[in-house]
Amino acid sequence: MDPVIIVGTGLAGYNLAKEFRKLNKEQPLTLLTSDDGRNYSKPMLSTGFTKDKTADQLAMADADTMAAQLGAEVRTGVSVSTIDTSAQTLQLDNGETLPYSQLVLAWGAEVFRPPLEGDGLEQVYSVNDLMDYGRFRIALEGKKRVAIVGGGLIGCEFANDLTNGGFEVEVMEPLGRPLPTLLPEQASAAVQQGLEAIGVKFRFGPYVTAVNQADGGVVLSLSDGSAAEADIVVSAIGLRPRIKVAQAAGIDVNRGIKVDRFLRTNAANVYALGDCSEVEGNVMLYVLPLMAGARALAKTLAGTETAVAYGPMPVAIKTPACPVVVAPAPNGVEGTWEVEADGLNVKALFKDAAGTVRGFALTGESTAEKNALAKQLPPLLG
Ligand SMILES: Cc1cc2nc3c(=O)[nH]c(=O)nc-3n(C[C@H](O)[C@H](O)[C@H](O)COP(=O)(O)OP(=O)(O)OC[C@H]3O[C@@H](n4cnc5c(N)ncnc54)[C@H](O)[C@@H]3O)c2cc1C
Repeated sequence: MDPVIIVGTGLAGYNLAKEFRKLNKEQPLTLLTSDDGRNYSKPMLSTGFTKDKTADQLAMADADTMAAQLGAEVRTGVSVSTIDTSAQTLQLDNGETLPYSQLVLAWGAEVFRPPLEGDGLEQVYSVNDLMDYGRFRIALEGKKRVAIVGGGLIGCEFANDLTNGGFEVEVMEPLGRPLPTLLPEQASAAVQQGLEAIGVKFRFGPYVTAVNQADGGVVLSLSDGSAAEADIVVSAIGLRPRIKVAQAAGIDVNRGIKVDRFLRTNAANVYALGDCSEVEGNVMLYVLPLMAGARALAKTLAGTETAVAYGPMPVAIKTPACPVVVAPAPNGVEGTWEVEADGLNVKALFKDAAGTVRGFALTGESTAEKNALAKQLPPLLG
């Protein structure tokens, strides 16, 4: 029988493979990845300095160890370039064609890069996997000043971690406050205050237009005509689900690869899981939804069709200078924030028109209320 093929060895791909092997030890299983296939937890990439771990120390197992553990073939450094959904085959970038009985796209999200000009772009790094992180850590050696483009979740986590590592950090955020799309203003203010207290600088308003080399470092030009100096730049303005190869294969996509509650695409025997997927309209670039998805999809692949359900899914943001837990409201839910603030401790409830709590944001000591509040939330996908 043709193998089950999982494309991707991130948390989605490897967790699915583990869950599947609990149910089925016989079926040939192949994992394909364009990276080196090491098993690691991506959220740890923004804690390397705080936890004093290099890229290699963050790797939990290499591809061969994973292959042995999973009773699977794990092929590294190969990229899926096309899929023929009627022949049930896929093509690799080396020209090889592989047949599948069932195919799972778990190929993640790609970094969105701003259209920057200048001759300093080689000093602009994005960190979206362990290999990126390894290169970034080497580039940081001997450097002092880090400019972070983007003050969202990843930008703020790196700001905290790099400061803990002894770097001077400046964060550029056009939207005027940290975590602008996740938090209400008072909670952003607490995060700003916490990060500033450890030395992080913020520059709000203008966006970065160019990065040019200067005196061994770089100079960033901003849209209001101002400039900032740094030795190295981290770009953290966002991630987009990878959809191109699926779209070219006639698989329905929207923001992500469209799947139903069974994680099925519109093509027979093709599924999507994790950061690349859009589950009934929900694109959630977090670990908890992909773990729930992996458990359900493993059952489906093993022969028992199982829909995924999402309970409340609060996300802890790793800014120890001001801890944050946020449970974003489901897509499309309108509402208003109700906020109680006491210094760094903010408790904000997001209520819909009927007054029901649909999401929350907690900072500082208020994060202790996470579990109690999560219990009150309706499930994201019941
Ligand atoms: C710095 C950082 C901190 C984070 N912190 C948190 C957190 O605290 N909590 C939380 O819930 N979430 C966090 N996230 C998000 C979380 O890490 C992701 O949601 C999750 O890791 C996504 O896993 P994935 O397997 O879907 O994708 P990925 O880990 O991106 O894996 C994609 C895989 O597909 C492979 N691939 C891609 N294209 C191809 C191709 N064409 N052919 C073959 N292989 C391909 C890649 O090589 C890789 O193996 C964080 C993310 C980052 C970057």
